[in-house]
Formats: sequence, structure tokens, C-alpha cells
Amino acid sequence: MASSLKIHPAHADLETILVTETSIKRRIKKLGAEIQQTYGDEEITVIAIINGAILFTADLLRAIPNPVRLDCIRISSYRNETKSIGKPKLLHSLTLDVTNRHVLLIDDILDTGKTLAMVTNVISKLNPASVKTCVLLDKKGRREVPFDAEFVGFEIPDKFVVGYGLDFAERYRNLPCIGVLKPDLQNPPEWA
Ligand code: 5GP
Ligand code: MG
Ligand code: MG
Repeated sequence: MASSLKIHPAHADLETILVTETSIKRRIKKLGAEIQQTYGDEEITVIAIINGAILFTADLLRAIPNPVRLDCIRISSYRNETKSIGKPKLLHSLTLDVTNRHVLLIDDILDTGKTLAMVTNVISKLNPASVKTCVLLDKKGRREVPFDAEFVGFEIPDKFVVGYGLDFAERYRNLPCIGVLKPDLQNPPEWA
């Protein structure tokens, strides 16, 4: 009998799976509850850092019962690569007004801390009622600037990961789990 089990073809490129699809789903439900507990019935202005946070934000928003407004910003700091090229820049800024609003920033992963430190600094100057951050993954051991997120999905070791929004050269974002690429696939082409 033919198996009905479908495995994403990109799974074959992974050396290890660090977070399964099932664990992501389960954790997101709990994060949604934690967020509601923190904000009560207040409205939240969610700001997603795209592209990485797209999948996480889409699923997390459906686990948050509060009234929510959504905006997206784009930052450049990594290019086609597994290493940072330095200072993150804001490429695409807010369209919503955040004055006196409760802002919840969402990112896929907290690594050196430079991105979220820069973004929270920019947002704080716009006089929001509050700014908090939620990340799916936290590589605590990699911090270069001090930064803690209020809501964290999973702490992971210092490995370059892909899947569930996280890319390598813009690929693998559509993997339903988080994993580490096989070493021979981590040697990137020349930097553009
Ligand atoms: P930070 O400014 O904290 O060093 O970097 C945060 C950004 O770097 C994340 O939003 C993500 O785009 C990228 N990044 C950091 N670590 C990883 C990783 O392991 N895999 C991928 N795909 N991107 C990462
Ligand atoms: Mg990012
Ligand atoms: Mg990336």
C-alpha cells in the first residue's frame, strides 16, 4: 500500500532537526496565552520583522485573542549567508502610528541582539505606551549587545538554522520545522 505520509523534499538537506513542527505548534499556543496574560484585553500593535518572522507571526497572531493591528518592517543585516555583515539597517519602515500604543515586536531569532536593540531603540523614540519583543528562537550564547526578549519560543544552541521562515540564501523558509543544514550545503556561493 502506498504511504500517504508526505515529507517536505527540503528535509533531505537537513543534518538535524532542532525543533519539530509539532513542538512549534504547541509552543505557539502557549506563547499566545502568555501574551494575553501580559496584555489583558488591551489592543496590541504587532510589528513583524520580515521576511524571517512572516511564518511565525502568521501562526502566533491566530493564537492571540486580543485586538491586534499588524505592521511589518524590513531590516538588512545578513546577505545570502550564515554570518552577519555588521550593522543592521532599517530598509522598510512603519506605516502605522505607534504613539501611545502597546507595541509587540516579532522576530524569528535573537542572535547577537543587534537587530532588536536597534529596532526597539527606533520604536521607543516614537512614544509608544510600551515595547516588548517576542522571538521564536533565542541563541543566548551569541549575544554581542545585551538584549532579552519578553517572550521566547525556544532557546537553541549556537548553530545556523533554517526553516519556518528562516532562510539560507532565501531558501528553506517553507520548511515546517527548524533544522541545521548538512555541512556541504552550508558553503555558500560568492557574496552578491
Ligand atoms: P541579530 O541582529 O540578533 O544578530 O540577528 C538577528 C537576525 O539574524 C535574525 O532576524 C535572522 O534574520 C538572522 N539570523 C540570526 N541567526 C540566524 C540563523 O541561525 N539562521 C538564519 N537563517 N538567520 C539567522
Ligand atoms: Mg531577520
Ligand atoms: Mg536571512
